[in-house]
Amino acid sequence: MRFSFIHGQETIRRRLIQTVKESRISHAQLFYGPEGSGKLAMAIAYAQYINCSGRTGEDSCGQCPSCLKYEKLIHPDLHFILPVAVTKKVTKNPVTREFLPEWRELLISRGCYVSLNDWYEKINIENKQAIINADDCNEIIRTLNYKAYEAEYKVMIIWMVEKLYHAAAPKILKILEEPPDKTLFILISASHDQIISTILSRTQPVKFFKAGDAAVREVLRSRVSSPEEELNAVVRQVDGNLNLAYGWSSDQQETDLFEKFAQWMRLCYQQKAAGLSEFIEALTVQGRERQKNFLQYALRFIRECLMLPYGDPALSRLSRAENDFARNFAPFIHPANGVLFADELNRAMFHIERNANPSLLFMDLSLTFGKLLKMKPGR
Ligand SMILES: [Zn+2]
Repeated sequence: MRFSFIHGQETIRRRLIQTVKESRISHAQLFYGPEGSGKLAMAIAYAQYINCSGRTGEDSCGQCPSCLKYEKLIHPDLHFILPVAVTKKVTKNPVTREFLPEWRELLISRGCYVSLNDWYEKINIENKQAIINADDCNEIIRTLNYKAYEAEYKVMIIWMVEKLYHAAAPKILKILEEPPDKTLFILISASHDQIISTILSRTQPVKFFKAGDAAVREVLRSRVSSPEEELNAVVRQVDGNLNLAYGWSSDQQETDLFEKFAQWMRLCYQQKAAGLSEFIEALTVQGRERQKNFLQYALRFIRECLMLPYGDPALSRLSRAENDFARNFAPFIHPANGVLFADELNRAMFHIERNANPSLLFMDLSLTFGKLLKMKPGR
């Protein structure tokens, strides 16, 4: 993966290249930000750049022996640690090593833009929760205590570090703080508020923005002296385009989520038992990660509806279809019930993670939402 294949994130790229030029690469960095912002792609491109023998001030060469191995993700000094679980293939004591062929395949097919859901689907973990387990923490220590095979830097990428099993975390604190010479840890996270604080405090954070947000900021910066109206027009224009290209409802998965959410809200409002049961049954066969994803989407949508009367509609992250629905739906969401919606959704996500019965949970939630939707704003 070369930098030139990454969309956006110019500022981060420039900053990372600078650390190499000035030989001040911090040994433990945390790349965090929303899914789709290119954290993993950037981590691999950075590692490849550091180890490239023909690099320029702009990018790695893509042709030296190190680059050739990096492009296939088979460099012996590039290591990954991933959330894993038992699967049909690995029926006990799962460790990252056993999943590397699938990991490489997925990364290469997606240009290193991979979400947790993509990964869970790829290894087919169904209803289970994947974690970064204690065996893999031991593996980190073992791997890094060997000398690098051929590269200047050994790189250890811990993907989705928020999935690190809490009881295993102390194992890696020491090596994270004082790694062997010429070792680079890159921790990647999509929910950095869930990372254990002892890990967090040992890393240097690098914040990624969703490509859209960064581009908007770029425009804002360059136009900061222009009159406010002109500024708004620019943002509106940029944002309108970005909604098509990058908005969180642009891809098929988001569209499916939206359609499902709209259907659910109608069913909740009508409280028709048969329709609800059928809807919930379809949802329960989908696996816990997808259910959580759906709840997260619902939470985001409720938030957008709460903001709708106050925000600049041009800055909304909603797609056209979502916007049409939100305009009719938003009057049913107000400060009085919005908080309750959010509480219920958060609670449901918490219980899904702890293996609650999804049919009961979604039925309960649907009945509560039916009542909340009919709540008057004044109360
Ligand atoms: Zn190279």
